[in-house]
Amino acid sequence: MAKQLIFALTLLVTIGVFAFTINRIISYFRFTKANFPIGDLGKRFGVMINVAFCQTKIFRKPIIGFLHALVFWGFCVILIGSIEMIIDGLFGTDKVLKSLGVVYDIIMASGDIFAVLVTISIIVFLIRRIFLHVRRFEGIEMKPISHIDANVALTLILLLMLSLTGMNIATIDYQHLRGEEVAGVYPVSAWLTGIFSGVSMKGIYIWYESFWWIHILLIFIFANLLPYSKHFHVFMSVPNVFLSRLEPLGKLPNMDHVTREVKLMLDPNTAFAAPAGDEPVERFGIKDVEDISWKNYFDALACTECGRCTAVCPANLTGKKLSPRKIMMDIRARMKEKGPGLVKHGREYSDERSLLKDYISVEELWACTTCNACAKECPININHPTLILDLRRFLVMEEAYAPGEIKTVFSNIENNGAPWQYSPEDRLQWAEKLEVNLK
Ligand code: SF4
Ligand code: SF4
Repeated sequence: MAKQLIFALTLLVTIGVFAFTINRIISYFRFTKANFPIGDLGKRFGVMINVAFCQTKIFRKPIIGFLHALVFWGFCVILIGSIEMIIDGLFGTDKVLKSLGVVYDIIMASGDIFAVLVTISIIVFLIRRIFLHVRRFEGIEMKPISHIDANVALTLILLLMLSLTGMNIATIDYQHLRGEEVAGVYPVSAWLTGIFSGVSMKGIYIWYESFWWIHILLIFIFANLLPYSKHFHVFMSVPNVFLSRLEPLGKLPNMDHVTREVKLMLDPNTAFAAPAGDEPVERFGIKDVEDISWKNYFDALACTECGRCTAVCPANLTGKKLSPRKIMMDIRARMKEKGPGLVKHGREYSDERSLLKDYISVEELWACTTCNACAKECPININHPTLILDLRRFLVMEEAYAPGEIKTVFSNIENNGAPWQYSPEDRLQWAEKLEVNLK
């Protein structure tokens, strides 16, 4: 009974702290824009199965991708065992799901095998991060705290797996000593039971209880650390993939208000087809976090800082300042800075700083070629180019700022109806000497 009481209190504190953090994050979402409609649930479900659960994009780097996939699949299986532990802890039961029979055996056996596979994967990840200087993990945005954050989370996962295996070994030994049938199948742990040989039944029970508590407390600590870490993607990546942008990557979204103005200029009758009662535009493009869509913020929270986007970015590879990973990290950091002020003082709050310029420089933005390599490579379908485009839109439409070459293009479009410096009448001159009918 005492164990149940202590467990219930611990669970209550865990849920309370977690709810506080999530509530704070949700309150920031209130200040983002709603302009990312969701439809086509069937297609979204397919993308989620393919990209999130089958981890297809991760496999573009086969070895490290496979190890990452093992960790993800391992988490999914082990989650069931964690739910069982919570039920046992609350109601004083022992392996409550064992009534599932053969299904239980399969779940436990998978969890036992995955615990070892995840342990091996995490050790490889830690060695890579600490001893090998992988270029993908470097960059101006990767401060020492980013590396510490990653290593702490990996170490916690390692301890979770070791405590799970320890718990499995102790449970087999304890039930054997009591002459009971072991609940569940543990192929790897059964092989390791020798490590407790010579320990008394009481001693093994103490080991079992210790591993049980260490494991569940690590889960509770881990769950509450995640929202403050890049490993928040453990929660966010699957829903983020479900909420992916479904249009072809090359299709850059138009601005509705501008599209309508252009249509009106081309054909005034369109005015009657234009939706009535449209709100006037507060601001063209994105200057600060209250201009981004809720999906942009969701992307930023889901970003794993893996650097796959930056590793394929032609601008970054050719020495420009742009790093698509940094754009996501900047959104997260800026919302963390401005969010509390917005919540306290409302949308009008200003701290005289902004996402654009104080975090993301103009130089970074104009280095983007909108090639979409970053969005294609991102394992959780984050879309950077549309965001970069909106930041540029603010510069062009609100501040009349664009690099000299682009200003020439703008004036050519205005004067000649084309980006080139030629009159529209001269457009087909190049073909005049060819024997083709130009009529
Ligand atoms: S779209 Fe821009 S940010 Fe993304 S890879 Fe291409 S150049 Fe880099
Ligand atoms: S945006 Fe995507 S690819 Fe880039 S660091 Fe984040 S998760 Fe990785």
